[in-house]
Amino acid sequence: MPTLLVTGLIVIVMSLLVHRMRTSSNSPGFVCLERSEVTATLAETLPDIVFFGPSPVFVEFIQSYWAMQERDIVPQCIVRPRSVGELATAITILKRDYDTRTCREDPPLLFAIRSGGHSPIPGSANMDNGIVIDLRLLNEVIPSEDGSSVTIGTGARWLDVYKTLDARDLAVAGGRNSDVGVGGLTLGGGLSFYSPRVGFVCNNILSYEVVLANGTITTASESAEPRLWRALKGGSNNFGVVTSFVARTFPSLNVSSGFLYMLGSKADQMMCAFHDYTNADPGTYDEYSAGPLVCFSYVQKISLQAIATYLVYTKPEAWPACSNGFKSVGRLWSTVKTRSLTSAASELASSSPPGLRQLFITTTVKNDLATLMEIHAFYKSGVKAMRQVKGMTWTLVLQPLLPVMANKGQADSMGLADRTEPLVIVLFTAVWEKKTDDELVGRTTRATISDIDAFATMKGTADPYRYLTDCASWQSPFDGYGAENKRFLQQMSKLYDPEGMFQRACVGGFKLDMDVSNP
Ligand SMILES: Cc1cc2nc3c(=O)[nH]c(=O)nc-3n(C[C@H](O)[C@H](O)[C@H](O)COP(=O)(O)OP(=O)(O)OC[C@H]3O[C@@H](n4cnc5c(N)ncnc54)[C@H](O)[C@@H]3O)c2cc1C
Repeated sequence: MPTLLVTGLIVIVMSLLVHRMRTSSNSPGFVCLERSEVTATLAETLPDIVFFGPSPVFVEFIQSYWAMQERDIVPQCIVRPRSVGELATAITILKRDYDTRTCREDPPLLFAIRSGGHSPIPGSANMDNGIVIDLRLLNEVIPSEDGSSVTIGTGARWLDVYKTLDARDLAVAGGRNSDVGVGGLTLGGGLSFYSPRVGFVCNNILSYEVVLANGTITTASESAEPRLWRALKGGSNNFGVVTSFVARTFPSLNVSSGFLYMLGSKADQMMCAFHDYTNADPGTYDEYSAGPLVCFSYVQKISLQAIATYLVYTKPEAWPACSNGFKSVGRLWSTVKTRSLTSAASELASSSPPGLRQLFITTTVKNDLATLMEIHAFYKSGVKAMRQVKGMTWTLVLQPLLPVMANKGQADSMGLADRTEPLVIVLFTAVWEKKTDDELVGRTTRATISDIDAFATMKGTADPYRYLTDCASWQSPFDGYGAENKRFLQQMSKLYDPEGMFQRACVGGFKLDMDVSNP
C-alpha cells in the first residue's frame, strides 16, 4: 500500500511537471513540440516504443538519470528502441522532418541521445519538451566464442560488462565506475583501470555499429569505414547513433584496489607522492598500476576536509611497489584488498550515489609540483565560497595522463598520441542539494578553473587538452584535440551527416563549431 501511494504521488508530481513544461515558453530557436507531425508520426509508426508522460515508463526514465539537474528536464516523449531496426526507423522519421524544415528554413525540431544517463551536464542526454532516444534496451553483452572480444550494447552499464567477463576471467578497458553507461564513456574516449596497459577505452574498440543520419545501419572498423572508426574514438555524438561496440578483451585475474583515507592536513605530502608517481620513468613504468585517483574533499555537512586516494593494481598483489609513495603518507584507514573487477568498479560507484545536484569541470596541466600546489590552494579558496552551500561536497580530483596511456591501441581523434611528457587531468566535482545554489556553484567552479588556467599559462605548465567527458557545458574539448584533429572531425561530419542533423538538431554533448546553417 505505501508503495502504491508513493507511486501515485510520483505520477501526480510528474503530471504537474509535464504540464509546467508544456505551458512554459521555450528558449529562442527551440520549437515547442505539440503532439503533432513528427511525434505523431513516431507514435503511429512505432507505437510500442514511444512513450509520453506521465506513464510509469516515463517516470522511471526521468528518475534513472544520475544527476538531479538531468531529472529536472522533462521531454515531451521518449523513444526506446528494442532493436537497431527500430532505431533506424526513428532516425529516418526525424531526418525526413529535419530536411523538410531545413527546406522551409524553419528551425529544426530537437532531440537528444541517451545511453546510461550518467553525464553530469544538464541537457547532455535529455531535452526540455523534446524527443529523447533512450538506448538502454540495447544492452546486450556477448563475449565472442574465442574470448578475444565482446559485443556490448550502448545501453549497458559497465557493471553488466564486468559481471559477464569476470565469470570468464576476462577483462576489457572500460569505465572505473560500474554505474556509468557504456555509450557516453566510450564515445568520449574513456579512462580505464587498464589504460596504462592498453590505452583509452576507445583505443580498444574493434568496431562500432552506427545508425547514420540518413537511417542506414553501418559498421565502422579498421577495414570498413576506417575514417568514421577513428572519428568515433573521441568524437562523441557528432556522427550518428552508435548501437553497439565490439571491444577487445584480454585475460585478467582479480585486481588489488581500494581507497586510502586520510585527513586534509596530509595534502602537501599527498601532492608530492602524486607528483613523484606521475613523474615515473616511462621506460620502467609498471603498466599494471592504473594510476591513482587522488581526491581532496571538503564535506560541508561535517565541515571536514579529507583526502581519499583510489589505488588499483590490475594484478592480485597485496601492495605493489609502485604505490609505496602513497603508503608512506600514512592513512586513517584503507579498503585496499584483492577483489574482482566488478567489486573494484562497484566500490567507486558507491562513492557517487545518484539523485543529487552535480557539476564536473576540468583542465589539464603539466606535472609540475608548484602548479599542483597552487591548484590545491585554489581548491582551498573554493572551500570558502562552498561553505555556504547546503550539502556541498567539493572535490579536487587529480589523475595522471601518462604517455603510456596516450599512445596505445588504435588511432583516435583526441590528439594525444605524440605526447612524451606526463600530464595531469584536473577535475573538480561539486555535489549539492538545492537548486537555489546552482548559480553560486557554477560561478565558483568556473572562477576556480579560470584561475588555474591563468596560473598555468603564466608558468608555462598549461596544456590545451580537456578530457571531454569531464568538461562543463561551456568548455570546448574539441579545441584541445588540436586544429588538425578538429578539422578531421568536421570533415567526417560533412561526409557522414552532410545536412548537419547531428550538429543542429541533436542537442547535448559538444559540437564541432561548423557552419551548417546552409547545408
Ligand atoms: C560518477 C562518475 C564516474 C565516472 N567515471 C569515469 C571513468 O572512470 N572513466 C571515464 O572515462 N569517464 C568517467 N566518467 C565520465 C563519463 O564517461 C561520462 O559522464 C559519460 O558521458 C557517461 O556515459 P553515459 O552513457 O552514462 O552518458 P549519457 O549521459 O547517456 O550520454 C552522454 C553523452 O554521450 C552521448 N551518447 C551516449 N550514447 C550515445 C550513442 N550510443 N550514440 C551517440 N551518442 C551517444 C549523449 O548524447 C550525451 O551527449 C564518470 C562520470 C561520472 C558522473
